[in-house]
Amino acid sequence: MSCIFCEIANGNIPSSTIYEDDQVRAILDINPASLGHVLVLPKKHCTSLLDPAADEATIHAVFEVAAKLARRMDEVLKPDGINLVSNMKEGAGQTVEHLHVHLIPRYTDHPEMDTLVLSNGSIDKPDFDELVSLLKAD
Ligand code: 5GP
Ligand code: ZN
Repeated sequence: MSCIFCEIANGNIPSSTIYEDDQVRAILDINPASLGHVLVLPKKHCTSLLDPAADEATIHAVFEVAAKLARRMDEVLKPDGINLVSNMKEGAGQTVEHLHVHLIPRYTDHPEMDTLVLSNGSIDKPDFDELVSLLKAD
């Protein structure tokens, strides 16, 4: 099945590329949530971080580039902050089923440059001990 981000990451479809190496391409999002919204894509196809095909080397390469570009973004665009987001599955808002990390610079009090809305509500306090035993990882 054809995958638009495979085509973009591997250079078969042109994109506004700000970084490329043998494993990763970083591009400007075509519908930016804010000024400078970047997507970091592995060249290897995997659907999201949940996909076992997203191996350690792929994840490492994507996040290393994301950190490097966040620093550059911070230096050059001087936003008030940056959100790093990777949506996993439709229920989290994933629309393109190829792993990608969003870097979204934030501009406080500049709605013309920043449309991102993140909820900051809170559910009732859960059973933290139970959650720790369920989620604890090696
Ligand atoms: P998701 O909703 O899957 O987390 O994010 C997908 C992102 O990819 C969206 O922000 C959308 O604007 C962006 N996008 C979708 N198609 C293209 C494309 O062809 N080129 C670029 N540069 N971005 C795209
Ligand atoms: Zn793909």
